[in-house]
Amino acid sequence: MVAAFVKTDKDFQTKARSSGTTVTFVIIDGLFITVASVGDSRCVLEAEGSIYHLSADHRFDASKEEVDRVTESGGDVGRLNVVGGAEIGPLRCWPGGLCLSRSIGDQDVGQFIVPVPYVKQVKLSTAGGRLIISSDGVWDVLTAEVAFNCSRTLPPEAAAEQIVKEAVQQKGLRDDTTCIVVDILPDKANLTMPHTKKQPGMGVFKNMFRKKTPSDSSSHTDREYMDPDIVEEIFEDGCAFLSKRLDSEYPVRNMFKLFICAICQVELKPSQGISVHEDSSQPGNLRRWDGPFLCQGCQEKKEAMEGKRRSRDSSRNSGSSE
Ligand SMILES: [Zn+2]
Repeated sequence: MVAAFVKTDKDFQTKARSSGTTVTFVIIDGLFITVASVGDSRCVLEAEGSIYHLSADHRFDASKEEVDRVTESGGDVGRLNVVGGAEIGPLRCWPGGLCLSRSIGDQDVGQFIVPVPYVKQVKLSTAGGRLIISSDGVWDVLTAEVAFNCSRTLPPEAAAEQIVKEAVQQKGLRDDTTCIVVDILPDKANLTMPHTKKQPGMGVFKNMFRKKTPSDSSSHTDREYMDPDIVEEIFEDGCAFLSKRLDSEYPVRNMFKLFICAICQVELKPSQGISVHEDSSQPGNLRRWDGPFLCQGCQEKKEAMEGKRRSRDSSRNSGSSE
């Protein structure tokens, strides 16, 4: 999933000429819901009378951690300064002036605006639930609670229309008000449920992921659910660094195709693979035998995302295209 987001961003940068996008990618597999997201569109779940946020807000205003990451990578984060010194609007990153810390395909901003998604997986109870997936124009004026309440009695399509109507009424603009509502119904969910096996090691598993991103698990996800018939958190990782995110996928890789770029999936000769742990800015710290491996192009992309190829970035920003 992480590799797919980074590859899409890479492809976008070579093919598209316009500005980028947020992505909220939702997979529903029986009672399992997996959401991968960059940017400030949101996916929220209402189940068993509670509301769960399944996506992160990648806005500088919402995350000190993301401000620190981008600043350390060479970006400047601040508010617009009008004459007289008054600061207005949201926190933005310069160059570019984007208020998102992660997105796909934004080319006129620093590469430290990364496409690495926040990923969250939950398992619903057999009672099912309702998802609202919507862009920031809706969430600027509606809380998740209001969005669910104003559309509760309606079927999904009409509910989505009602939510947009409610947002536009308050905002006066139709800007960025895309909305999709999905009902996961108990009967259907039971019939199509492919995962019947219990996962005994889940507690340990979960702690392992928690340790990796201590500050990324925000308050609304900290609840623990042990009873099997309530909403359960299965997985959460929002870390921005590829060396940490690609690790966990490595053991399941095909052993006969060991040298494949972990991002673009191109086959590599053993001499061409660059370990995701290699860091050209710290030559003493090589772990070149530790996978997963990247091709030259994806390694350059990774270093740019971590702010380690700044001369290259500034030549790009001054107009020369590579
Ligand atoms: Zn590659």
